[in-house]
Amino acid sequence: MINDKNNPEIVSGMTIQGFVVEQISVIEEMSVICYILKHEKTHARYCHVSNSDDENTFSVAFKTVPIDDTGVAHILEHTALCGSSKYPVRDPFFSMIRRSMKSFMNAFTASDWTMYPFSTQNRKDFYNLMDVYLDATFFPNLTELSFKQEGHRLEFENSGELTFKGVVYNEMKGAMSSPSQILGRGLMNALYPTTTYHFNSGGAPDKIPELTYDAFKAFHQRYYHPSNAFFYSYGNLPLVDHLAYINKAVLSKFNAIDPKTDVPTEPRWDCPKETRRYYPLSSHENPEKKSQVCLAWLLTGIEDAYMVLCFSLLDQILLGNSASPLRKALIESGLGSALSDSTGYDSELRDTMFACGLKDVRVQDADAIEKIIFDVFHDLVKNGIDKELIETAIHQMEFHHKEVTNHPYPYGLKLLLHSCGSWFHNNDPIRPLRIEKDLAKLHDDLATGPFFESLIDKYFIQNTHRVRYILEPDQNMHQKEEEKSQALLQDKTKQLTEKDIERIKKDTSALSDLQNAAEDLSCLPTLTVNDISPGIVTVNHSNDFSDAAISSYDQPTRGIVYLSAVQEMSILPEKHIMNIPLFSFVFTRIGTKDYDYVELARRIDRYTGSLGVSSLIRVPLNNNLLPMSFISLNTKCLKKNILPMFDILNSLYFRSDFSNIRRLKQLLLELKSALESNVVSSGHQYAVGVASRKWTLGRMLDERWHGLSQLKHLKTLTNDLSDKKLEMLAQDLYEMAQLIFSKDLMQLAVIGESDALEQIEQPMKGFQSQIPHSDKNAPLITGLDDSLTQTPRLEAWTTATKISFVAQSFPGVKRSHPDAPVISVISKLLKSLYLHKEIREKGGAYGAFATADLEEGLFHLISYRDPHIQRTLQTYANISEYFTKSEFKDSDIQEAIIQLCSDIDRPDTPASRAKKAFWRKLTGLTDEMRKEFKEKVLSVTRSQVIETAQKYMLDLKNKGTIGVVSNAQRIKRYNNQHKEKFEIHKI
Ligand SMILES: [Zn+2]
Repeated sequence: MINDKNNPEIVSGMTIQGFVVEQISVIEEMSVICYILKHEKTHARYCHVSNSDDENTFSVAFKTVPIDDTGVAHILEHTALCGSSKYPVRDPFFSMIRRSMKSFMNAFTASDWTMYPFSTQNRKDFYNLMDVYLDATFFPNLTELSFKQEGHRLEFENSGELTFKGVVYNEMKGAMSSPSQILGRGLMNALYPTTTYHFNSGGAPDKIPELTYDAFKAFHQRYYHPSNAFFYSYGNLPLVDHLAYINKAVLSKFNAIDPKTDVPTEPRWDCPKETRRYYPLSSHENPEKKSQVCLAWLLTGIEDAYMVLCFSLLDQILLGNSASPLRKALIESGLGSALSDSTGYDSELRDTMFACGLKDVRVQDADAIEKIIFDVFHDLVKNGIDKELIETAIHQMEFHHKEVTNHPYPYGLKLLLHSCGSWFHNNDPIRPLRIEKDLAKLHDDLATGPFFESLIDKYFIQNTHRVRYILEPDQNMHQKEEEKSQALLQDKTKQLTEKDIERIKKDTSALSDLQNAAEDLSCLPTLTVNDISPGIVTVNHSNDFSDAAISSYDQPTRGIVYLSAVQEMSILPEKHIMNIPLFSFVFTRIGTKDYDYVELARRIDRYTGSLGVSSLIRVPLNNNLLPMSFISLNTKCLKKNILPMFDILNSLYFRSDFSNIRRLKQLLLELKSALESNVVSSGHQYAVGVASRKWTLGRMLDERWHGLSQLKHLKTLTNDLSDKKLEMLAQDLYEMAQLIFSKDLMQLAVIGESDALEQIEQPMKGFQSQIPHSDKNAPLITGLDDSLTQTPRLEAWTTATKISFVAQSFPGVKRSHPDAPVISVISKLLKSLYLHKEIREKGGAYGAFATADLEEGLFHLISYRDPHIQRTLQTYANISEYFTKSEFKDSDIQEAIIQLCSDIDRPDTPASRAKKAFWRKLTGLTDEMRKEFKEKVLSVTRSQVIETAQKYMLDLKNKGTIGVVSNAQRIKRYNNQHKEKFEIHKI
């Protein structure tokens, strides 16, 4: 008997608000009840997942299957959010972000679907957002001007030259300079020659300008229709209210059509193929070992849920950790530094695929790499897969199925993303969530003979639908593309008639008028400050362990125990400081005296959900205390695995062994490669690192550990990988282990249900008692040279990228300062009003942020994937003028307060809630301070905002430090035009 207290009236087979309830099922191990419904009149599909979570999620999605590279689905995703019938404002989506307590709002374009999801804990907010989302998707205005703004258009630069612009155009130009994107898109293009996956659904920059407005409108008509729509909701709100809302607002206004969006299965090949593609590499890099080689196979269709589960396990068996045979063979070959991009199993497409390979390789090693891969397969088929590898893979799957996380997406959305591939291809959306039955079937299959071995034989060795993909660097690629685009523009310029020119100029001024026009947003629904509770979520630790160095938290964690061992570091010899990130990376990966790295990796996956170490800096609330530097180990396990987990920890801490220099070399290269590939995707973080490191020791150290200085350091280290050098490095790491760990500066936190907390006490105290005692306890930071200098004020780091990241840092206030609540509200106001308009809408950057760094007492302005440098800096400089003119309304301040509170009240899982409480304890942030801060935020006034902005943001033209990540030509151009020049570093 199903007893859902959220939806007591709903039974299978009934019709409710025009929907037939087709199926109700309980998934006990996840404590959820699932409803599958279909709308009778329009054939719209609906899936609802009911449980006690108050972070409710909603999504409407459409199958979108492009047949070209113009990015039409992606441009539509953007433009649908530029005003609709009921909400005819420029940007209802961003306007709602400002007036909502959402914990998530976004839109995604995948290869064959487009999704508009959101989450919130507030019921009023839920329906506000649902209404805006439904109107945006089913009744958008899609004006030609907004198509040009989001998609593509021609514009004359100040110099008179013609140029392409458009938000998606710029976004894809940025995205398609990254090797991982080029490889990922290229693999699909190669493996699926006849279906929609052949095309770049995001848009190829050189094809985007070919999309016409008419084709764009027609795409919406056909695809954003209820008969092609999939509605989803999750949480504790009653389903019937959702159905009523949707039926009335949308579905009652449509009749069923056949959208013809089924994706056929790809016809299989008789023999394998090879593809070669190129990516841009900057001219100062040595291109020799800069290629990627990978093999990819087309596997079974997504409808076979059991096979999808088996291939996910096989992926884990082959590649999951350093003990996994395929990963091990590839990495140990020394031919490359890391697994190639796109490596792994992709189960989202109509026909699923698997890829594996190496990056940072020589092109001529392609044959050797292919041979390694096939040798592993042949060996596994011949000699069988180690049973423990299979058990480890199953453990990982069970663990992650059990664990509730809401990062990077809310849990409700995660469930949807996990099952939507199957659902959108006409299969049961609940099936991928029920793994118990499939695992039982798997145990039977494993018992009756070589199971995974025969999958390998059939789907990898014998499977001729395979591509060998080679991605090579091209150091002239940017230049060639630039020339091509210039030639195209020149061509276009020649063909322009007087009328065309007039039209372009008219569009440009219409767009700028539109962007500058003051808008009446009163049609949009909103929360008010009164809808926000002044309270905060608090978590108390229990004192079960009667030990000041152990904090325990009794939380409902579904049988999982979380453990953090947080080691504050004291003074270290200078030579070790830069190696802290390497130490953190290597510590859990190189092996111990008990277990070599392979066995260690296997144990970690066999007995824990994950185990990792990171380095970080936190600034205590007490102004008299110095910043604290930590090495923090975090792990988690099922209750039954507490003892084996401590066995791993004891081995790591007390019997460490860094002497495997071959492994050390691999890890060094792997870490360098990871940091390197971050440059294009997270360039803004590197830029703000460069800008802010000149102000405080904490930021300086953070940049040295996690910024471009660290990348440079790793590049230097990897320049000489001789045995002698590696042995010295191993010795250094060993020394560090002796110096870093000290009982006096270690804090432990454990989170779980009470019975697990009881079980963990003895092993944890045993572990703690073995940590050595040390007399040195002056914070690490005291050993650093404290002569900070703010020069050079302008610093640029260059690499092969078409876009820039521009950051500026200047002094703000710390959390304890009376201005802190106001300056935090200002950061929200700046981001959502001023920077969004000036840098994203007018400047064409993908985004811009303003952050009040209350720990360090700094303020940062940051642009993301920005086509400009000078213009952005000028925009930053004009901030004080913006506040002097005070062109914002009282409602804008209310919205900024709502956004800040939305951050403060962000929902957490039980485990992350407790972990945050633990860190607050370490930095001295009390619940009273948090409550007072929130109360002050809720009462921030307009005059406070103006006054405080004037105090901290005057004369930003000459104040603060600037960090830019960009390409060399652009910086050179800037330096030629300006008196104050960038100091240039190469990445
Ligand atoms: Zn986009």
